[in-house]
Amino acid sequence: MLKGSCLCNAIQYEIEGELGPTMMCHCSKCRKANGSAYAINAAVKTDQFRFFKGQELVSEFESSPGVFRSFCKQCGSPLLSRRPSQPDIVRLRIGTLDTPVDIKPLAHIFVGSKASWDEIHDDIPQYDERP
Ligand SMILES: [Zn+2]
Ligand SMILES: [Zn+2]
Repeated sequence: MLKGSCLCNAIQYEIEGELGPTMMCHCSKCRKANGSAYAINAAVKTDQFRFFKGQELVSEFESSPGVFRSFCKQCGSPLLSRRPSQPDIVRLRIGTLDTPVDIKPLAHIFVGSKASWDEIHDDIPQYDERP
């Protein structure tokens, strides 16, 4: 069981299972949503993910048609994104995990739209968009 929470700790979630493929996304929307160079997102099966505290504080923003980003309306922590067209998975922002996990991101994606000051210094494969 993996557990995580938002910055103010009002929202807590748990995952019954493993994280799926993990990507570092440099797209402009992830940059803005996280205030950072990129977001690190892991696919998680929807039926294995559960908010067990503070669900009433989870707010959503439709950042592109059909892409909903969930965040804490109290502290602003980005938590996950979901697409009604892909109901089986959510994409978790793994920086919100409290349980240590031993994973290595598979790829940098949307490198074609990374910030001009963002330098990538590792050997992980890079893709201009989503491969
Ligand atoms: Zn919060
Ligand atoms: Zn992105």
